[in-house]
Amino acid sequence: MKSNRRDALKKGLSLVAVASVASSVAMPAFARRRKKDGGGAEMVKPGEGMAAGVNYQHDKAKITDDKLKVEKQGVAFKDQHCKNCVLYTDKGDGKGACTLFPGKLVAADGWCTSWSKKG
Ligand code: SF4
Repeated sequence: MKSNRRDALKKGLSLVAVASVASSVAMPAFARRRKKDGGGAEMVKPGEGMAAGVNYQHDKAKITDDKLKVEKQGVAFKDQHCKNCVLYTDKGDGKGACTLFPGKLVAADGWCTSWSKKG
C-alpha cells in the first residue's frame, strides 16, 4: 500500500514536470512576443487622466515648462528617462510598464514629474 502511494506520487510529479516543459515549448512565438511586449497593452496617452497629472510625455522635447526641468537625486533633467526610473519595467521595443499606469505602456525615452532614480 505504501509503495502504491509513493508510486502514484512519483507519477504525479513526473506529469507536472512534463506538463511544465511542454507548455514552455508549445507556447507559440507570437504569444511569447506578446508576453514580452506587454501583451499588446496600449500606450499611455499624454494629456489624459493620470498622464496629464504627472505631465507624462513620450517625447521629452514636448516638456516645455522650464520649472519641470530640474535635477533630481543628482541626475540632470536631460538624463532622466522612463528607462532609468525606479517605476519602469522594460518590455522591449522601446516600451515598458510603469507602476503609475497599470496595464499600459510608456516609452523608454518618456518622462514624467514622478521620475525617480532607479537603484
Ligand atoms: S514614473 Fe517613471 S516610468 Fe513612470 S512615466 Fe514617470 S518617469 Fe516614466
